Amino acid sequence: MKIDCVGGGPASLYLAVLIKLQQPDHEVTVHERRPAGARHGWGVTYWPDLLEDLYAHDPESARLIEEQSVRWQGGFAHVGDRTTAHDGDPGHAIARHRLRTVLADRARSLGVRLEFGKEIGSSTDLPDAHLVVAGDGAHSRLRTEHAAPLGTRVTTGANRFIWLGTTRVLTAFTFAFVETEHGWIWCYAYGFSAEHSTCVVECSAATWAALGFDRLDRSEALRLLEKLFADLLEGHELLDGRGSPDGRESPGRGNPESHGSRESHGSHGSRESPAQWQAFPTVTNASWSYGNLALIGDAAHTTHYSIGAGTTLALRDAMSLARALRTATAPSELPAALAAYERERKQALLSVQSAARHSAQWYENLPRYMGLEPHQMFALLGQRHSPLLPHVPPQLYFHVDRAVGRLQVLRWLKQRLGPRLARTLQSRHGAERSGSRTG
Ligand SMILES: Cc1cc2nc3c(=O)[nH]c(=O)nc-3n(C[C@H](O)[C@H](O)[C@H](O)COP(=O)(O)OP(=O)(O)OC[C@H]3O[C@@H](n4cnc5c(N)ncnc54)[C@H](O)[C@@H]3O)c2cc1C
Repeated sequence: MKIDCVGGGPASLYLAVLIKLQQPDHEVTVHERRPAGARHGWGVTYWPDLLEDLYAHDPESARLIEEQSVRWQGGFAHVGDRTTAHDGDPGHAIARHRLRTVLADRARSLGVRLEFGKEIGSSTDLPDAHLVVAGDGAHSRLRTEHAAPLGTRVTTGANRFIWLGTTRVLTAFTFAFVETEHGWIWCYAYGFSAEHSTCVVECSAATWAALGFDRLDRSEALRLLEKLFADLLEGHELLDGRGSPDGRESPGRGNPESHGSRESHGSHGSRESPAQWQAFPTVTNASWSYGNLALIGDAAHTTHYSIGAGTTLALRDAMSLARALRTATAPSELPAALAAYERERKQALLSVQSAARHSAQWYENLPRYMGLEPHQMFALLGQRHSPLLPHVPPQLYFHVDRAVGRLQVLRWLKQRLGPRLARTLQSRHGAERSGSRTG
């Protein structure tokens, strides 16, 4: 079979790897609009369970991904001039360009054709393909072409965000919330290599405009953000990747890591190009395939960046689609395979999509939580996925959650220690009774 994957992101590249591993005779091509070796963007986080899945599917690329990743542990939240910390689970992070390079090299070594530097405008550009996989990101052109039959829905978040890097290397997941005269602005940051951390900055649209970000060019915006987050950055720079000495991103307006966004918010008449602020698009599709076109990764669904799951989901889509395609030996069997893939992934996504929606809303309602003590605010930040939290006064939620947490500890102690304690007491009791009989 001939399979064409559009977009050289993690979803398409990993799918190409897995198909070639299981069906080497398939002719698989990945089409990426950017040039080969283009170094774009910052790091993404993932959790140890993803690594386990990657090893189970392709140990070779899993090993390289693990080698190229860094680990972070625990977290800090700086709220104004107060800091609070928690231990938290360990996580991994990897530069997006490193992840893509590992997957592209692996795909090539297995016989996948990689075509760089040409944008695919429509699935009709690929007339010979038995299957066209749209892995062309959140603003997928291929999906947009068939938005009606696919039942595409795109809703845009109320806040503004910008995805930046910094040379300050953080070893813990770090939040900083800064109050300005125009409202709160915040960022979260984590290291993803020995040289850089990711730093995602967010604020409400009103704060964003009042601080002048709708008018400032990219350098002015970066300098203002450095001033606002000076305590976190400790003298290090914020980077948007454009015009950087190593050419990490191509100069010009289109930030390649803006997920193909055609939306940018800023004045285009300034000396320099505007900073790449965005409003997050949440994408859903009633159907994940139409004819011989199948959606994968961000083209099929997006989840708010604040839960750090999009890449993991894209890779898991690839695992699921490859598994479904294993049984399709002829083009006539594709519809059943695509239906099985869609069923499996839609089911798996339900809880993640809910978590992402509530997490985005938590940030959109940030002032609701900023009157709390920093340790309470941080505790509720960790609970932001909860569907209950928006409906319960934050103080009350915090105390109930803590009480439930204590109850769970008691229950755990009872379950673990209860039987042992009962046995000890029973044997002591028995010994005493036999002692009193013999004595
Ligand atoms: C601020 C921010 C932070 C994030 N942090 C995390 C995180 O910590 N952890 C995590 O797991 N996820 C994170 N994500 C999400 C993650 O980046 C995406 O979910 C993931 O990249 C989706 O992979 P993909 O392969 O579907 O699409 P993409 O990675 O977007 O790749 C799509 C590719 O298609 C190419 N393309 C587009 N159109 C065409 C065309 N017409 N022809 C040819 N090529 C085309 C693009 O150039 C691009 O290379 C974050 C996202 C944002 C915005």
